[in-house]
Amino acid sequence: MTWGYEAGRVYNRTNDIHGRFKGEGSRQSGIITFATHPVVVIISGKTGIAHGYADRWRTDGAFEYFGAGQIGDMVMLRGNRAIADHSADGKSLLLFFDTGNGLRFHGEMVCEGYHIERAPDQNGDKRDAIVFELRDLEAVAIKAVDADLPTDVSLDELRKRALAAVETPTSTSESKARTVYQRSRDVRAYVLARANGVCEGCEKEAPFIRVDGTPYLEPHHLRRISDGGPDDPRFVIGICPNCHRQVHHGIDGVEYNTALLKKMKSIEPTT
Ligand SMILES: [Zn+2]
Repeated sequence: MTWGYEAGRVYNRTNDIHGRFKGEGSRQSGIITFATHPVVVIISGKTGIAHGYADRWRTDGAFEYFGAGQIGDMVMLRGNRAIADHSADGKSLLLFFDTGNGLRFHGEMVCEGYHIERAPDQNGDKRDAIVFELRDLEAVAIKAVDADLPTDVSLDELRKRALAAVETPTSTSESKARTVYQRSRDVRAYVLARANGVCEGCEKEAPFIRVDGTPYLEPHHLRRISDGGPDDPRFVIGICPNCHRQVHHGIDGVEYNTALLKKMKSIEPTT
């Protein structure tokens, strides 16, 4: 379950999407942002097919999603900007497929980068289309956990890498962008090094030592409900499994998360 959505289940846009988020969000757009919720909903529809292009899965597992803009060149504004910046903004990116009878939830995604492609617009004229390259968050999160933490790298250097990891992904056709897996790993490595074996929530020592000899703590993303993937390290805290479970499942989980957010201001100043 992600924000209450179950993968594979079909939802009604009005009731289950706008309704769930206090009626917020544009009713027409294929990319929906919400005024007071850290969520970006993207809908992959059939409209593109009629115009000669369509969202598609790449053989390496990435999903290529055409941005918004019906006529003329697409621009990196509004919904398109929201997708590109979702990690830096601490927002969950939720992918739905329009089945014709509703919206089937696929899962939470991470934007790895984007490229520009010549594709027809609504009038059939060729224009620059922004094509986002998305990955399943779960796959990214699992790979980051399995990766060994770097040794003999200074905390300063790890911090630098983590802050760079959250920068808006660049156009992958222009430069060799760092993969979202690498970026996710950088954030994790820094947060765990910063915690240095002591829970940044309850301040107790890590409950056990991992197979690789490092203390076991978990990075928790304070602004999103789901964990894993790149995020601004100033909003990711290294906590013990007890604290982590409390945030996600405790009766006071929301309050505890708010307390941790406050605590982060002294751990990692935001200005
Ligand atoms: Zn703890």
